[in-house]
Amino acid sequence: MNLQLENLLDWHKSNHQKVIKGRYINLHQIEPLIDDLSSSFKISVLGHSVEERPIYAIEFGQGKIKILMWSQMHGNESTTTKAVFDLFKAVDDADKNFDWVSEHFTIIIIPMLNPDGAQAYTRVNAAQVDLNRDAQDLTQPESQVLAKIFEDFKPDYCFNLHGQRTIYGFEASGALSVLSFLAPSGDEGRSVTLSRKRAMNIISHIYNGLNPQLSGKIGRYDDDFNLNCTGDTFMAAGIPTILFEAGHYPDDYEREVTRGYVFAAISIALAGIALKKEDVDGDYFKIPEHQKCFFDIILRNSSGDDIAVQYEEVLQGNKVLFVPKVSQIGDLDRFFGHKEIAISSAGLYDEEDKKIEVGDTLTEWNNSIDLTITL
Ligand SMILES: [Zn+2]
Repeated sequence: MNLQLENLLDWHKSNHQKVIKGRYINLHQIEPLIDDLSSSFKISVLGHSVEERPIYAIEFGQGKIKILMWSQMHGNESTTTKAVFDLFKAVDDADKNFDWVSEHFTIIIIPMLNPDGAQAYTRVNAAQVDLNRDAQDLTQPESQVLAKIFEDFKPDYCFNLHGQRTIYGFEASGALSVLSFLAPSGDEGRSVTLSRKRAMNIISHIYNGLNPQLSGKIGRYDDDFNLNCTGDTFMAAGIPTILFEAGHYPDDYEREVTRGYVFAAISIALAGIALKKEDVDGDYFKIPEHQKCFFDIILRNSSGDDIAVQYEEVLQGNKVLFVPKVSQIGDLDRFFGHKEIAISSAGLYDEEDKKIEVGDTLTEWNNSIDLTITL
């Protein structure tokens, strides 16, 4: 298959793993899919979480280049998990569009490193530890599992798969950050070592591949060094590691559009590695760093303070509710809203004449504008 973005997205549209969708993805949903995987895949349990849930690894491919990927290290970041299940479907594609993946690579994917956090829809694990700050101390069983497979498998590349909040965008242009990437530093001086250079070059390749549709909407994370972060630790060990962050696309709170772009980004990254793009110098530092400059909603008040509303994601039963909460009141000129509503005459009082405060749940404005989203 021609690996142009458009073709990848077309393939994804018709062939993605339709059984899982939306934001709340837990082990119950992915276990039947893992059981159903074909004989192309080798399934193992690498260990167990704090609450004794299995941590699965799925291995495929016969190629020389070894890639280790893990998703849902943060339990509420499920978009990349959906994308790796789409990749499993691609590997078995009847039209053999993705046979090159298994020919070039041996890949191990941990689709859900933090199954307890996935169940509870939290960033942290069941012991309230952020696993992406535990790379040195390895206090948690989930971190130990990842450290051990890294040691045993000796990957040539690592893909660290995450999701980012709706707050990221670009102050200069007002565009949002749909996807972002980082080649983490492996030392305080943020040296561009050979392994970091290679990760940067592959990111440049991904950036160029996605640009036809996401021009101006791809960000770069800041590269402050923190050895407690997994990417920094693996990079310090000399292995090129790429951080993928799945972000917001307009109105796509389910992250199903972004999911397609993540699938495309992973495919383009693999193609880049297969084609030795790691040694072709790209323009990594020209990818703009994104800023925290978005809110879900801004109520624009031409005669006074603006009100920023941010959705708080609350798990209720098997659904994630998006609860609109006032997160800031003031002059919000330098911020953008995914939705902006003019409230010129309404002032800062709700329908019961109560002054609106930060932290309030604001489901509607002035009895007329519905601020909720239903998915
Ligand atoms: Zn994360």
